[in-house]
Amino acid sequence: MDFPVLSGKDKHFPGIEDSMCPVCKSKAVWADNETIELSGGCRDTDDLHNANVHSDLWLDWWSQKDKQGLQSHTELAIANHVESPAYQLAFCSTDCLRQFLNSAIDSLESQIEDEKSA
Ligand SMILES: [Zn+2]
Repeated sequence: MDFPVLSGKDKHFPGIEDSMCPVCKSKAVWADNETIELSGGCRDTDDLHNANVHSDLWLDWWSQKDKQGLQSHTELAIANHVESPAYQLAFCSTDCLRQFLNSAIDSLESQIEDEKSA
């Protein structure tokens, strides 16, 4: 899986018009089908109609601080700067959601290993 899966003006993953489960690619999501959604978003509490909000979903890793108090860091953006106060990711089953989340964690772990060996 390539991350981020959402950015910019896209707020549905997969797209509504291309609605096959992004993991197994064998069952449609949304519409009338069983769908597991992972939803997120943000809201500007000062101005609920503010069109300038954006939404993110990130995994961050921070190392333990060294003796100088410094930390290494890496992050994986699953959804990045989505130009909407809300977004949804959809899967045909909890199994596919689990595979998706495992894929994200695998990518993060790969980045952590790169960071540790740098
Ligand atoms: Zn699926």
